[in-house]
Amino acid sequence: MGSKLALLGGVPVVTEPTNFEWPPITPQDVSVVTKLLVRGEISYYGREGEVAALEAEFSSRIGVPFALTCSSGTAALHSAFFGLGLETGDEVICPTFTFLSTVMPLFVVNALPVLVDCEPDTGNIDPSNIEAAITPRTKAIVVVHLNGHVCDMGPIIDIARRRDLKVVEDCSHAHGATWNGAEVGGLGDVSIFSLQGSKLVAAGQGGILLTSDREIFERAVLLGHFRMRAFEDVTSDSYRPFAATGYGLNYRMHPLAAALARRQFEELDKYIEGRNANLGDLTKGLAGIPGVSPPAHKAFATRHSYYNYKPLYDEEPLDGLDRKLFIKALRAEGAPVEESTSLPLHLETLFQVKDDGSRTYGRISGRRVYAPGTFPNSEIYARRAMRIPPYTEPRPRLISQIVEAFEKVSRGRGELLDHIRRNSA
Ligand SMILES: *Cc1c(COP(=O)(O)O)cnc(C)c1O
Repeated sequence: MGSKLALLGGVPVVTEPTNFEWPPITPQDVSVVTKLLVRGEISYYGREGEVAALEAEFSSRIGVPFALTCSSGTAALHSAFFGLGLETGDEVICPTFTFLSTVMPLFVVNALPVLVDCEPDTGNIDPSNIEAAITPRTKAIVVVHLNGHVCDMGPIIDIARRRDLKVVEDCSHAHGATWNGAEVGGLGDVSIFSLQGSKLVAAGQGGILLTSDREIFERAVLLGHFRMRAFEDVTSDSYRPFAATGYGLNYRMHPLAAALARRQFEELDKYIEGRNANLGDLTKGLAGIPGVSPPAHKAFATRHSYYNYKPLYDEEPLDGLDRKLFIKALRAEGAPVEESTSLPLHLETLFQVKDDGSRTYGRISGRRVYAPGTFPNSEIYARRAMRIPPYTEPRPRLISQIVEAFEKVSRGRGELLDHIRRNSA
């Protein structure tokens, strides 16, 4: 095989199929769902059936007594924030680099998200930025174990203890991941997992909240449930009287989704092992190629669950070749590499534009807006990240061809830069 880049007319390196479908659906998945359908078991009013079983399984695996399924991860986050009893104007520290649902439900409980910068290598919240963001109104810290790599929980838990703050874990990227041997979901005061179709435990749509705190649990139940489910779960003197009406929403999970989630949850360890085998090899292969850093994997992240695989690009060792063109050349080689396009939240309109609340959530003082450049590490991470599908079934030939493509394009940068110079001259 020649070394001429495929983008310039050479022969592509990747010949293996690069398809990636998620989640894997087997006849067993089809059977658990159709069984319910045939029985007409398509809605629940109480804590019963597939929903109750899924909650018991999460609760026992993670070792947290209270579990509540929800219609989505976003609904579970809303329930968690409501569960904490946040009041108007309370502040919650959040990473700026995350999926929007981690933060947006705070507005619905009239709390104020306070964004902080992330680590340049993992994209996770950087504990060293938390203390400076604390004010007398701060009530909680939200962490997101991005891409399946757990946050640096030691200093975070320490700050939370010293400053009397609650810790909310958004584990939507990290089903089954561990921190110093302890599984995520039980490391803070309340945690949530999205069970949306792209996640490691996929229900299609759904979410689950876990906590050891009875008050958080009962408040979360009352936000999204009423009557039967609320009568079963809300037993304290202070909240019991509200069980008949709940607090206004219906956040129940669909039984068919719960049945699928239970099946997928059974496969979780197999999925994580499969991803670690493929992506561990990919990381070994990418290490040492100029211009590419494989995703960081720190010692405290004792089990990486690889929701995403995002190597970082650095144009400096590649004589200034930009990421777009590097990726274009990789794709011409047949490598399944994409730009990671997610923006840090502080660059989104809602955090850029001051407004009186008439177009958003009503008047509330203290809402933060941020200038571009405020959180440089998150902006750098967003600019550098590339995505490769988190292959789960063994694909050794594909993995080594992807590595070859990276080597070839990295080595061929001179040829590529010359080509651009000639064509723009
Ligand atoms: C997917 C996701 C959510 C939201 O989950 P939905 O089930 O889609 O509402 C929240 N946080 C993170 C980090 C996510 O990736």
